[in-house]
Amino acid sequence: MVILKKRLGLILCLFIIASVFSVVGAAQTVNLFQPGTYTGEGTGYGGTIKVEVTVNDSEILEINVLEHEETPVISDAAFQIIPARILEHQTLAVDTVSGATLSSNGVIEAVTVALSKTAIDMDKLNKPIQKKTTSGQKIEKTADVVIIGSGGAGMSAAVEAIKSGRTVIIIEKQSAIGGNTLLAGSAMNAANPVEQAKQPMSEAELNTIRGLLAIEPKDDFVREWQDTLRKELDTYIAAGSSYLFDSPSLHKLQTYVDGDYVANPRLVNILGDRGQESINFLSTLGAKWNSVIQAAVGATWKRSHTPTTDLGTRGASFVLPQANFVEQNGGTIMLDSRAEQLIMGNGRCVGVVGTTSNGQPFQVNANKGVIIATGGFGANVEMRMKFNKHWATLDESVPTTNGPQATGDGIVMAEAVGANLVGMEWIQLIPTYGPGVFTPYIENQIYVNKEGNRFVAEDGRRDVLSGAVLKQTDAKLFIISDANTVKDGMTTTGVNVDSRLSNGYLWKADTLEELAAVSGIPYQNLKKSVEQFNNSVRNGNDPFGRTVFDKEFGVAPFYAGITGPMVHHTMGGIEISENAEVLDANGNVIPGLFAAGEVTGGIHGANRLGGNAITDIVVFGRIAGQSASK
Ligand code: ADP
Repeated sequence: MVILKKRLGLILCLFIIASVFSVVGAAQTVNLFQPGTYTGEGTGYGGTIKVEVTVNDSEILEINVLEHEETPVISDAAFQIIPARILEHQTLAVDTVSGATLSSNGVIEAVTVALSKTAIDMDKLNKPIQKKTTSGQKIEKTADVVIIGSGGAGMSAAVEAIKSGRTVIIIEKQSAIGGNTLLAGSAMNAANPVEQAKQPMSEAELNTIRGLLAIEPKDDFVREWQDTLRKELDTYIAAGSSYLFDSPSLHKLQTYVDGDYVANPRLVNILGDRGQESINFLSTLGAKWNSVIQAAVGATWKRSHTPTTDLGTRGASFVLPQANFVEQNGGTIMLDSRAEQLIMGNGRCVGVVGTTSNGQPFQVNANKGVIIATGGFGANVEMRMKFNKHWATLDESVPTTNGPQATGDGIVMAEAVGANLVGMEWIQLIPTYGPGVFTPYIENQIYVNKEGNRFVAEDGRRDVLSGAVLKQTDAKLFIISDANTVKDGMTTTGVNVDSRLSNGYLWKADTLEELAAVSGIPYQNLKKSVEQFNNSVRNGNDPFGRTVFDKEFGVAPFYAGITGPMVHHTMGGIEISENAEVLDANGNVIPGLFAAGEVTGGIHGANRLGGNAITDIVVFGRIAGQSASK
């Protein structure tokens, strides 16, 4: 329960003002409320938010959030900041908390409902806040390493810089840390042969590896990865093995080939080699993992490691362990501070200037280097439209899974100092997000269109899946699950599915026929789709070419969720070297400037494998932190 009490000073101050007012003009004394404690409900991101508000006759004294279904960690800032703002300014016309807009609105709505039960004049409770005028004096700070952005890339960079003995300042434009990383649904890819070997491998999966070995090598990197993989597979077969095979060379080949050879193979090499080490890095800092390694949507292989929800959300495990380390080891995080421009001195990046959310200018000087870790531009419709070449449109009619902060600021700042941009046209749509979706894993999922027919291999690339969905009726798909995914209302990875059933996008039933009836899917087609899926599980010969399966489908209860493609990830961005140095158009390093995470390009190529983004941000975030510290 979150409790906010009005500060005593403010109470005294208002008390004095009220007393004076009653002396000079008793006839005008305004009673705002019937004193007492009132409850109200509002709608947040996850469901209902219930609050309790205590008032005396003229002011709001206390706001308690009693119940909510919001995502832990992400909503915390809203639960702290919104009641504090309402109490401080005695108005409901407060700004929402960036990064937690829906939770903020839910709290404001709930307080409004509570106060409407007692307020004598609601208009008086919506007075606009007089914005404080700042002194205008510039805040100036200095650190060895200055990092813009507090998502997984920025925080991983900060840990390495601190470990190298450097002072660190992280600049974050939102009121809370974490960026899109905190919203991440799931998984981090790494070849982990010991853990993966606990599962069997099907003939179809073996054929996927054989197919990759048979590809005509496009360059020396592919040739080298194939050579290594061939030797590994020969050893595997000679030993009569039947477990799920994986290795960094297979991971690299799949990343590069399924990114249509657009990526920089040198960066792919690093991604594949340092995946497992980066999982260990997070574990050492406190991340915990589920034991089963799965295949995220678009991962194309079962190598996606899922954190537990011990830290609140799964995404939290990709950023809070590093943030705790940073806070415990003297790193400084400047929240509500938007970086606007890089400072160059003699051709070297020496700092950042920007403005705080209350309008105060700041300058942060960097003794060693500046790291741009500002994430992608999935929420910037103008940039999407400018760079998109491959989708019919990416205008505002196409929703995004990203938070509103993903506006590509770092790309703009870097370009202004001569950085080269690569792969900007490659923008990923994902068809499996939104309120109708509760699992990012595909093993036991069947996708059908509104007619109830399968139309695509569910284990395919995200661009292929999205392209296929866009051709279906209303550009929608239903994701069908059974007890292999949800037991007792919870997924095997700890998501409470049954609490979301009233959201209008998700249905549950005890029989397939009933599921068809409640979700509006034609039953006969749905039944055929399930039969087709089960045949494919049994004989490995799927008409759509799917190879990743787990169990046959058919154990009640059954679930159907409806969804459609959304902008999810921007593969293009700032070109970097293997040391995460920012490169200019001639391939030269811009001294003092580094970049990591979704703001960079060249790692995923034309299509990013599901689960590879987290590996990218941790691997290259750490490299950027180490490089900038040198
Ligand atoms: P990544 O996954 O690459 O780490 P995230 O999206 O998780 O990227 O995090 C990027 C962070 O950078 C977000 O928290 C975002 O608010 C922050 N950010 C973006 N632009 C700016 C800016 N101009 N100034 C400060 N912070 C920024």
